[in-house]
Amino acid sequence: MTSSPKKRIALLGSTGSIGRQTLDVVAANPEHFEVEVLTAQNSAEELIRQAKQFKPNAVVIVNEEQYTTVKQALANEPIKVFAGEQALGSVVQMESVDLVVTALVGYAGLKPTIKAIEAGKSIALANKETLVVAGALITQLAREHRVNILPVDSEHSAIFQCLAGEIHNPIEKIILTASGGPFRGKTRADLAQVTKAQALKHPNWSMGAKITIDSATLMNKGLEVIEARWLFGVQAAQIEVLVHPQSIIHSLVQFEDGSIKAQLGLPDMKLPIQYALAYPQRLKNSFPRFDFARYPSLTFEKPDTETFRNLALAFEALERGGNMPCVLNAANEVAVAEFLNDRLSFLGISEVVEQCLGKLDYIREPALEDYVETDKMTRIRAKELIR
Ligand code: NDP
Ligand code: MG
Repeated sequence: MTSSPKKRIALLGSTGSIGRQTLDVVAANPEHFEVEVLTAQNSAEELIRQAKQFKPNAVVIVNEEQYTTVKQALANEPIKVFAGEQALGSVVQMESVDLVVTALVGYAGLKPTIKAIEAGKSIALANKETLVVAGALITQLAREHRVNILPVDSEHSAIFQCLAGEIHNPIEKIILTASGGPFRGKTRADLAQVTKAQALKHPNWSMGAKITIDSATLMNKGLEVIEARWLFGVQAAQIEVLVHPQSIIHSLVQFEDGSIKAQLGLPDMKLPIQYALAYPQRLKNSFPRFDFARYPSLTFEKPDTETFRNLALAFEALERGGNMPCVLNAANEVAVAEFLNDRLSFLGISEVVEQCLGKLDYIREPALEDYVETDKMTRIRAKELIR
């Protein structure tokens, strides 16, 4: 490739699953990428280790109690150390940042993503919750500031890759593939018995705890349906979910002539991460290659939305629009956290989400304050339901 200057990256959530894999991609391509900012919530030791290796301009530890630990450990390095949630919004706006990778989990991604877009930074978006909560606001803001939102989520990266060169060709349908998670084929009676340890075992992907539970309940696919609606400007009726247990076809696009394009590869998040970082280029790498002849058959089935209610609830929230996807997300975040704390059953997760969707006030065209308020009120409601 041509010798373009290095892309300077602010990586929010560098200590997580996507964060660490993003640093692997950066480390493998030092001629293309440079780390400007690293951030973590609580993982001070890992953040310090990363900072010493990648020598960013600044780091943020969101948990202020860990500030002194990080500050002292990096005292001999020319690295600025900040603490607290607000700092995330400032570091993404630093002059020296070209691209912000949002690899933090949950609603916490919303405000720093807004700040980054307002500063005109390109976004490599892993944090799907941001688009679920406030897709209309985020995409509008991105248009105003002429900012690219590059998907990191593997399904959306697949669709994005299928759309290359198709700018004037409308999408007829998006087919989002889903592995089906660890409980594919189970009945509701089976699910009433499942444990946290079983839910945390994903068949194809190794990921953070929250998204792993979301994958087991199919809420992850529901969130991805909403994410796709905003990234690709399609309606709910144009999005179909297809269970494909091998996770080789990462998603498909059908055009108006009936032609379908798909993107394939072994399940490895480093590929979509690298694509988003290097876009519009493809960088050579040595990741293991998929071999059709040596692979068992690729299979497909319809998702079971009677058993996995969350997927149906996400479609419902998307169709109702307004602040309903924000309610869905907040209720789910609380329910998943309580499930991980052994205070809610697996089936209880979708019950909490469904009840919150029925109880929170509907706002048709929410402003940022309405999303903030909806998130807060939903969390209160969800916790009351679980208590
Ligand atoms: P992890 O839980 O592994 O990592 C989350 C990261 O965000 C950590 O660095 C964590 O810090 C930080 N963090 C957590 N809470 C907060 C907060 N409230 N404020 C600021 N920082 C916070 O998550 P994943 O890497 O699995 O997922 C990250 C995002 O990417 C999610 O939105 C997920 O849906 C999406 N995604 C993930 C995929 C995967 O393969 N993992 C695939 C596709 C999408 P600390 O280490 O200190 O806790
Ligand atoms: Mg995905």
